[in-house]
Amino acid sequence: MSSRNDAYQYGFQTRAVHVGNEVDGESGAIKRPITMANSYALPYDPTDMNWSSAGGNLYTRNGGTNQKYLQERIASLEGGEDCIVLASGVAALSGLFFALLNKGDHVIFSSVTYIAVYRLLNELLNNKFGVETTLVDTSDPANVEKAIRPNTKLIHIETPGNPTLTISDITAIAEIAHCHGALLSVDNTFASPFNQQPVVLGADFAIESLTKYINGHGDAMGGAIVGRTEHLEKIRAVSQINLGGTISPFNAWLIMRGSVTLPLRMRQHNENALTIARWLETQPCVSFVAYPGLESHPGHEVARKQMAPGYGGVLSFGLKADHDTHNRFVSHLQIITSAVSLGHDESLIVFLGENDERQYLYPQEFHNGFFRFSVGIEDAEDLIEDLRQAMTAVGLL
Ligand SMILES: *Cc1c(COP(=O)(O)O)cnc(C)c1O
Repeated sequence: MSSRNDAYQYGFQTRAVHVGNEVDGESGAIKRPITMANSYALPYDPTDMNWSSAGGNLYTRNGGTNQKYLQERIASLEGGEDCIVLASGVAALSGLFFALLNKGDHVIFSSVTYIAVYRLLNELLNNKFGVETTLVDTSDPANVEKAIRPNTKLIHIETPGNPTLTISDITAIAEIAHCHGALLSVDNTFASPFNQQPVVLGADFAIESLTKYINGHGDAMGGAIVGRTEHLEKIRAVSQINLGGTISPFNAWLIMRGSVTLPLRMRQHNENALTIARWLETQPCVSFVAYPGLESHPGHEVARKQMAPGYGGVLSFGLKADHDTHNRFVSHLQIITSAVSLGHDESLIVFLGENDERQYLYPQEFHNGFFRFSVGIEDAEDLIEDLRQAMTAVGLL
């Protein structure tokens, strides 16, 4: 199933298994091989070749077979025309920003985003390269409309946003962007294409950290930009060929392998996270739970509209406890591991304290320290029991 046209007529699970894979023409192997070569053989007369070309096999930084297969699969899962895969989610974000933005352009971006977005836009591109930036709470599209300037080139949102799970309305913000001649990019990492497909909802770009749900096993890093070929050709030349954020063919292959089970894993993440969020909400020692699948979440209605069939595996919550009790609680967990990242098979938790430099951008309930909890695919009952015994051990139950 290699032809893009064929690929779209099938369901999500069929595409996750088949798009980008074929019987290997040389060996007959039913899985395509990993090609770890840096270079490909040149034609008889190479002198008129474009050494910066992404077309054809030339040099692995310009593109290679394993990247190409993975690009086909991710484009298909996101419902997009084209895709660029890169070395990390941040390589995808920086590749997009550096390729699209020029000195004097204006960018509006969500006040709650992955930290590197804040660093790239608000510090690097702003201070060093003269790009104007405005942070807004994009959970209300009216704030985006108000921030538009004549030179607004790009709106970048993250929904659900890391780490507060803030929800922004993709379709409404796409309309605002397009009405003013701007482009919309959406970081879709928390939802994954199984739950949400931003380009189908009207965005120009979907960004994924493949490191998270799409690979899903916590053992390879990668990133993707999905969008229309007319934009992606230019971005590929900058981000991959000239900035050099190329993914290793081995990592592309690992992510291809991990992505096969994305729909199965996401179903379990969705179900476990909702079960645990509901359980946490009933605990007297829990100060708040932020999960877009809960009716109590301020973005629930928008999430219900744009996220289907579920709300992902990440939630945040607080304990009615002091700083040290939060750390002691984590030290008592036996299944859930204290580590950054998310979207792995196993459950991961991070204690984000009271001193985060972006705290002022978060809702009030996040100001006393909180946990970001990436709920894994273990048995939900075991995860709840783990939380319960750690609460008991620190005297909260
Ligand atoms: C992790 C993450 C990124 C960055 O991805 P890397 O693969 O770690 O570079 C970007 N956006 C979101 C929402 C993330 O969670």
